Amino acid sequence: MNERKQELAERTAEVREALADAARQAGRAPGDVTLVAVSKLHPASDIRDLAETGQTEFGENYVQEALAKQDELAGLNVNWHFIGGLQSNKAKYVAGKFALVHSVDSAKLAQALHKKATSLGVVQDILIQVNIAGETQKSGVTVEGLPEMAEAVLGMEGLRLVGLMTMPPFFDDPERARPVFARLRELRDGLEPRLGVLLPHLSMGMTGDFVPAVQEGATLVRIGTRIFGTRPPRG
Ligand SMILES: *Cc1c(COP(=O)(O)O)cnc(C)c1O
Repeated sequence: MNERKQELAERTAEVREALADAARQAGRAPGDVTLVAVSKLHPASDIRDLAETGQTEFGENYVQEALAKQDELAGLNVNWHFIGGLQSNKAKYVAGKFALVHSVDSAKLAQALHKKATSLGVVQDILIQVNIAGETQKSGVTVEGLPEMAEAVLGMEGLRLVGLMTMPPFFDDPERARPVFARLRELRDGLEPRLGVLLPHLSMGMTGDFVPAVQEGATLVRIGTRIFGTRPPRG
């Protein structure tokens, strides 16, 4: 094993242990939490190294970079997650290429993904991103707009809504993010009976705040820095 691969394997094992601890503390089974390794701005070789140690889920933020990595790593047995901001005019490059799109934040984007998925004859799994704290600089539908958005998505046969995603404000103390995570779970719990569908996934928790996220019910955590180290600058 090369040195980088060893390092990535060790760091990921530590994260997995911390995730399992947090799950047990909340009376949850460790297997109910899936680690999405956020590889944005890190080289494709890191993804290959980590995949070879058994990691299967990888998260990317930027369309061009993600597609280039998918090309370079064609044949590698991994699932790609799109987690970044997505303009509807780029939806056509994303639909059908990712196991899950976490960041669907407008009906217009949902419609564009639906259209492309339908033309490909596939069903694209998605999450709706919710801006719980109402930060103006963060994307996501508002809490008030969520039910209408979810109903619109349910009418799009090219999409399958499987849950919700959120990104809390940055806090030095991760405990301050806990109410945001709890709120996402409550929103999900309220939506399910209203819509008559199950929404099994809650995508929440990053390097700095995954412990409270898992304790509050995260099923997908998106962790980059803790695994890959500091990201190189973009561009
Ligand atoms: C970059 C990013 C992450 C990973 O953040 P880290 O703090 O490096 O773990 C998770 N989610 C989203 C949406 C991101 O853009």
